[in-house]
Amino acid sequence: MPLKLYNTLTRSKDPFEPIHPPRVDLYTCGLTVYNYAHIGNLRCYVFEDILKRVLLSCGYQVRHVMNITDVGHLVSDADQGEDKMDIGARREGKTAWEIAEFYQAAFEEDLRRLNVLFPDVWCKATDHIGEQIALVRTLEEQGFTYRIDGDGIYFDTSKLPDYGKLARLDLEGLRAGARVEMVAGKRNLTDFALWKFSPPGRKRQMEWDSPWGVGFPGWHIECTAMAMKYLGDRLDIHCGGVDHIAVHHTNEIAQAESALGHKWCNWWLHGEFLTFPRGDAEQAARMSKSSGEFVTLNTLVERGFDPLAYRYFCLNAHYRQQLAFTWEALSAAASAFARLKREVLELKRNAGDGREPIDSHLDAFRAAAEDDLNTPQALAAMWGALKDAEAEKPRIYATLLAMDEVLGFGFARMQEAALAVSEEEIEKLIAARAEARKAKDFARADAIRDRLKEMGVALEDTAGGTIWRKE
Ligand SMILES: [Zn+2]
Repeated sequence: MPLKLYNTLTRSKDPFEPIHPPRVDLYTCGLTVYNYAHIGNLRCYVFEDILKRVLLSCGYQVRHVMNITDVGHLVSDADQGEDKMDIGARREGKTAWEIAEFYQAAFEEDLRRLNVLFPDVWCKATDHIGEQIALVRTLEEQGFTYRIDGDGIYFDTSKLPDYGKLARLDLEGLRAGARVEMVAGKRNLTDFALWKFSPPGRKRQMEWDSPWGVGFPGWHIECTAMAMKYLGDRLDIHCGGVDHIAVHHTNEIAQAESALGHKWCNWWLHGEFLTFPRGDAEQAARMSKSSGEFVTLNTLVERGFDPLAYRYFCLNAHYRQQLAFTWEALSAAASAFARLKREVLELKRNAGDGREPIDSHLDAFRAAAEDDLNTPQALAAMWGALKDAEAEKPRIYATLLAMDEVLGFGFARMQEAALAVSEEEIEKLIAARAEARKAKDFARADAIRDRLKEMGVALEDTAGGTIWRKE
């Protein structure tokens, strides 16, 4: 069965074909490194990782480029307001350069903990100012740009007949409704900045000379310039979050196709949002980074969650469905993942060498993964293999290892965690908890459970009494 992917450009699930098989060129938008990634950002990188792993498992060779936005991403989509890097710098009393370095390292560490395969090329916007200026010059020579004094060089979207085709923007409706903030001097609502001038009389931390004046590149030009530098004039797949469709990716297409004079990227794939349902106790920690308080991978780890349990949580939903985050839902995923880990370790202890995977299970798994990355169904196929009472255990283990090339849980590396507490101590605490429960002191009983959990011990109350296991 051929790999099928949902293409935002066609709004349909189409059989995937790269331009130069077996090579697949993939560009994914990276993080703006003025703060930690929130778990909604990370959901998107997990989806892109599954895409890449599925491509690899189909026998493709993937050339993967991901950028790091370390300049020019302004607060407003209308290219106004402060640079997010400056906000980070002021917040922490550091330079924008220090902020970028710190949060890029933190981002890489998050991806590592989530078992996300690294791109072949990481590229930073500030390392590619020359390429961005060259691309703006090309657009200028072809008559696509105009200047707003005291502001910057803008792209004239009315010069491109199919502008907005990715988002299927209703340009007439947009103009009539004027929902986008209109900037003085802009010819069309959808025009966007290619190069911004430094504010008069104020030196920015990040600014460069250009043919138009001292300033810095707009956000959209960096991705297009770097994608074209590393992957050439025709791209197989470009990914990002759904929030990129209407502005960032729409403008990337405008820049690339105006400069090249032909279609640039064949496939656009977008990951849906992680949402925080209203009324949830954690509503305060919404996904908005501007509120200053948001959930990061560190938040999850501090609450005792394995980062891979978050990966499991993400895979339980299809990437094109919104996923509601609650601590209860994450706990449920963490329990399932802990059970999975236990079963894998049990299989590993009894695994022989050189066993063949079981085709029927593997076929069901691949059919799901290759059907637009249907990870919930792929996980169901994985559990189906685990629960196959007829099959030999070593073959089940071999099947799981094969599936793990796509799932990316790292089954082969999984090990028993060493406990920070003796079994005698655990039994004592369980007895103390039972006493507390008998005395209806549930707060104390819960506190003991939490303490054990911190030490990596999970309790389960059964009809026959409380049993414990390593998490
Ligand atoms: Zn981008």
